[in-house]
Amino acid sequence: MASFDLLVTGGTLPDGRVLDIGITGDRIAAMGDLSGSDAGEVIDAQGDLVSPPFVDPHFHMDATLSYGTPRINASGTLLEGISLWGELRDQATVDEMVDRALTYCDWAVSLGLLAIRTHVDTTPDHLNTVTAMLEVRERVKPYLDLQLVAFPQDGFLRSPTGQQNLLRALDMGVDVVGGIPHFERTMEQGAASLTQLCEIAADRGLPVDIHCDETDDPLSRHIETLAYEVQRLGLHGRVAASHLTSMHSMDNYYVSKLLPLIAEAQIAAIPNPLINIVLQGRHDSYPKRRGLTRVREMQAQGIRVGWGQDCVRDPWYSLGTGDMLDVAFMGLHVAQMTSPQDMARCFTMVTEDNAAILGLPDYGLAPGKRASLVVLDAGDAVEALRLRPDRLCVISKGRVVSRQARNDARLGLTGRPQTVRRRHTLPPH
Ligand SMILES: [Zn+2]
Repeated sequence: MASFDLLVTGGTLPDGRVLDIGITGDRIAAMGDLSGSDAGEVIDAQGDLVSPPFVDPHFHMDATLSYGTPRINASGTLLEGISLWGELRDQATVDEMVDRALTYCDWAVSLGLLAIRTHVDTTPDHLNTVTAMLEVRERVKPYLDLQLVAFPQDGFLRSPTGQQNLLRALDMGVDVVGGIPHFERTMEQGAASLTQLCEIAADRGLPVDIHCDETDDPLSRHIETLAYEVQRLGLHGRVAASHLTSMHSMDNYYVSKLLPLIAEAQIAAIPNPLINIVLQGRHDSYPKRRGLTRVREMQAQGIRVGWGQDCVRDPWYSLGTGDMLDVAFMGLHVAQMTSPQDMARCFTMVTEDNAAILGLPDYGLAPGKRASLVVLDAGDAVEALRLRPDRLCVISKGRVVSRQARNDARLGLTGRPQTVRRRHTLPPH
């Protein structure tokens, strides 16, 4: 008789298969009909969705949960957010940043979000942001994978010490090279910053993740330079371009030339729908642009696209929960991805696609993979998007790290059922 540390029974996988998952140590040992097996603990997932963990490919953990300090963003624009953050990052202590980040990671774990790529501002010479996030990466390592991007918020070339501080951050152990070409002083300087940043990544063997063309200006075409540099330096498959909002407003003919170049360079795209819909189009009268890049068009070209969260309770965004299902839900609406296939794809974008963008080893639900998974109070992936339901159980690296009781509402109506669940594809439980 097979014996496991943990046995998750009868769950429905995102691809529709219904099966048991046996876990030994930090690995998935077996999947299939495991009835009759012995286990240290059995988790009954009958009728519930069992998914690999959520992954966020774009976040700012040094700024999270700081909303209102030193004051709120009155205009609601990206630029006022940047200027507010410029004050906050010099006031915040390392301990305070660590505390805020650890609190956010607790939220993330409870939501089944077990891998996050966060940009870390490398502008201030004290680099307290980097010191704090390196500590957080170490503290959460047993249960959450945190990747750090060296992010020159005030410009790699525009800020007087932008270049040297980014290199210092990489020397301290930051994992990924970042950049912000549309914030440099000129288009030429933006392009020059990308050339230098890609050369640094090539020299050091690191991935690249650029805040690229986060603007409504259709002439912001730094993605073109990024694709060129990837081609020139052979960085295929390890570069991501975040936001790409200018593509929303670009000329269609130009985009028809651009998309194959992005595909050829194997650059992944990371739109951040909650933030893009809130920050972009602020200078428009009516009609107002949506401010989201061309998601389905990129996917049709074979470009990998993952939804990112970007901000939760910080100078740029007053809301946010840490739930990647909220992110996918907004993306689905703004990109009008409403066919059954597109909706299922939106779920894959916050799991498998994002894991591939981060290059996570041993991710997914298969024997031999790392035993990390989430049990959701939903019947399938599309219902999970519709309900954004409770995470009944979260397992990270073979250990149960969060549980939540099923929480049906109790009705007080004559002639109606006593309890109500909003699930609509309810199998027998
Ligand atoms: Zn960002």
